[in-house]
Amino acid sequence: MKKLFALLISTSILFTACTTNKITGRSQLSLVPESTLQQEAVSQYQTFLTQNKVVSSTNNKDAEMVKRVGSRIANAITKYYTEQGMADQLAGYKWEFNLVQSNEVNAWCMPGGKVVVYTGLLPITQNEAGLAIVLGHEISHAVLHHGQERMSQALLAQGVQIGGNIFTSGNAQVNNIFNSIYAPTAQVGVLLPNSRKQELEADHYGLIFAAMAGYNPNEAVGLWERMAKLNSGNQTPEILSDHPVDSKRIAAIKKEMPEALKYYKPVNS
Ligand SMILES: [Zn+2]
Repeated sequence: MKKLFALLISTSILFTACTTNKITGRSQLSLVPESTLQQEAVSQYQTFLTQNKVVSSTNNKDAEMVKRVGSRIANAITKYYTEQGMADQLAGYKWEFNLVQSNEVNAWCMPGGKVVVYTGLLPITQNEAGLAIVLGHEISHAVLHHGQERMSQALLAQGVQIGGNIFTSGNAQVNNIFNSIYAPTAQVGVLLPNSRKQELEADHYGLIFAAMAGYNPNEAVGLWERMAKLNSGNQTPEILSDHPVDSKRIAAIKKEMPEALKYYKPVNS
């Protein structure tokens, strides 16, 4: 009886805590409100920026480029979501784009639009469109609420009690889960790789958003091939530990190219 009761409760939690993503149409577990995640992201982002070397965008072409590419993608997404009557999906977004000095090949976007690009990524992206592909992918994870979904799955799997603001309760487990999902900072106890489903979604919408922002989506194939090559060497770039590249993934990107190209209008940069 107890078991049945517990099952009924967990089933009803799952039932009430699933939302249908307006853009993908996919049902996602959402045990933690997006607003709570954004609030936590602002605080973690500020801490990250104070603990790492941010490249000033004054007179630095790379840092300027990160802000330019990021803003163009953010503007394209905002325009598209607004036109589609989905502006509520971006509620609370206050975009920020920072380049951080680090050899790591990585970039990420936290809920609410807090983005970091590591200088180590730029030799691989090679050009502005290459960077747009990576940023399109990372930003898609955020605006498609993938972090919220993963966070919810992890909380459920680890049996963390949900209620109130789970971050202010000082639960180390909760903070660990958050950090492992959003910012590959040090002292992370659990590794939670993105699901393949989320990766394919982020590739798909990332291509479209980069194209909407005026960047050639064809750049994606070469970019992920360069990434895959890095992976065959000794070091696995940070970004690939979370986003493995294989021939199936590149084939899926090629298949989506005609759709992405429909949105592509080049910009002069
Ligand atoms: Zn990804």
